[in-house]
Amino acid sequence: MSVIYDRVALIGLGLIASSMFWAMRRAGVAGEVAGYARSEATRETARRIGLCDRVCDTAREAVEGADLVVLCIPVGVMGDVAREIAPALKPGSTVTDVGSVKRDVIDNVAPEIPDGVHFVAGHPLAGTEHSGPESGFAELFDNRWTLLISADDTDPQALAKLRRFWEALGANVEEMDADHHDLVLAVTSHAPHLIAYTMVGVADDLRRVTDSEVIKYSAAGFRDFTRIAASDPTMWRDVFLKNREATLEILGRFTEELFALQRAIRTGDGDHLHAYFTRTRAIRRGIVEAGQDTDAPDFGRANRPK
Ligand code: NAP
Repeated sequence: MSVIYDRVALIGLGLIASSMFWAMRRAGVAGEVAGYARSEATRETARRIGLCDRVCDTAREAVEGADLVVLCIPVGVMGDVAREIAPALKPGSTVTDVGSVKRDVIDNVAPEIPDGVHFVAGHPLAGTEHSGPESGFAELFDNRWTLLISADDTDPQALAKLRRFWEALGANVEEMDADHHDLVLAVTSHAPHLIAYTMVGVADDLRRVTDSEVIKYSAAGFRDFTRIAASDPTMWRDVFLKNREATLEILGRFTEELFALQRAIRTGDGDHLHAYFTRTRAIRRGIVEAGQDTDAPDFGRANRPK
């Protein structure tokens, strides 16, 4: 494959940035890749494992001359970092991000981007519970969706080029409006994470079930909650604070459904429970048929490349 961006800058060197780097290398779509991370420790690790062609000590240095700048940092700091790098951005270049929330990121980043530089917000719907520069792998985005946010003022050429780039990294790309994105993600990702956090917290609180029992018998369902609840606390704190409205709306609906199921259990309404579980089972089948998960009992994790 030919080079799409001569110079790419990755700001933040965690799971998503490191996966992007290895996927760029695999696809051969980037010339030189410069990287920056906030802490010296992360920069040192990146240099040691060969993550990026050049690891810089400042974000500004990393973005100088870059044709594509990717903000791979928690959503709560996107605006501040955009302000910091703005004076060093190359005219005609594109700035994008990978944040899990889109409206808030756009509202905070777009005003910082100078005239003549394009901003196209994005979100790869791929991740693991691991974080940091050593957690990335080239296959992370394969056959997963990346959503790019198109607005009235989005430059069509910059958008088309970024789409080609993500497709080269293995992703399927769809364009979406920012508010719709935040609602969809509240249903598919943000609320489920909160439920997992809650369930793991409840098990921890429930002193009648000893810790060792929780671990020993966790194969059924709970183990997957613990995996999700092990996700990065900073990232998820920011996601809930920055996608507040949509998450609260979905949690409101969730609570209503939970009450209805609770009532069905109390009143012995087996028909209600059976009909509900039949409906949800069909949704799971749909996900597997769409190629977004495997039917393996361990969800294919044992075979996932590292
Ligand atoms: P990560 O592995 O925790 O890495 C975050 C990176 O951001 C680290 O290099 C960190 O630097 C840097 N950083 C943190 N605070 C910063 C600040 N104030 N200024 C500058 N740099 C800072 O995170 P990730 O999982 O790659 O997530 C990055 C973004 O991708 C987030 O916006 C998240 O919402 C989004 N996302 C995540 C997933 C997922 O499943 N993980 C999926 C899709 C999208 P240090 O290492 O030096 O602290």
